[in-house]
Parts: sequence; structure tokens; C-alpha cells
Amino acid sequence: MAEAVNSAAVEVGEKEGLKEITELNIRIGELQQIDLEIFEFALSHLRAPMLRNAKINLKGEEAELKCRACGHRWSFSPKDLGQDVSESIHFIPEVAHTYLKCSKCGSPDFEIVRGRGVWIESVKGVR
Ligand SMILES: [Zn+2]
Repeated sequence: MAEAVNSAAVEVGEKEGLKEITELNIRIGELQQIDLEIFEFALSHLRAPMLRNAKINLKGEEAELKCRACGHRWSFSPKDLGQDVSESIHFIPEVAHTYLKCSKCGSPDFEIVRGRGVWIESVKGVR
């Protein structure tokens, strides 16, 4: 995963004609199965030459859920549920269905609209 992000960053940098990337902003969905510390560690040890001096910022993105029964959307952070539950959801997003219900109609049938995946939000650099 860290390797993929690394090469994606280089790709973005090259596309923008950068010689060097000075700042890399990465977004991580809060339901993504990633240990941030391990990810950050891996990322800083895998740096491509273009990223040698880059400041790497990791930011979480709050999850957004949508009820399949009534269409209601709401945002959700695993942290709201307390440590134990938060951890099991962090590792297995599917578990969310056991703990969560639509706040409007009470249906446990919802989809995850946002909050999964890792992507590069922006890069800054020197041309
Ligand atoms: Zn609903």
C-alpha cells in the first residue's frame, strides 16, 4: 500500500512537471483497514528520490453512510463508538453493519459512500 502511494505520488509529480515534491497530502478513509503508524513508517522508508525531502501529511476522511431503505445520509467516525468497537470496524468495515443503524428509519441496510480507500489529495513541489 505504501509503495503504491509512493509511486502514485511520483506519477502526480511528473505529470505536474515537478523536479521535487516538497509536500504530500494523503487522505485515508477512516474505515480503511490501515494502521496509520505502520503506514507512515513504511511510507517514510520507501521514499522515491523525488520525495526525499517531502513533508508527508496523513489526514483521515470521515466516513459517510447511506441508508438503502430511505436514502438518508449521515457521517460517521468509528471513534464515536468507543475504542473496542472502533478497532474492530477499523479492521473490518463489514462489521459496521453489526453496530450501526440508520438514524432515521432504523434500517441496518446501508452502504458506505465515503471513508474507504487511500488517495493523494494534493502535492506541492519545485518545478
Ligand atoms: Zn433509513
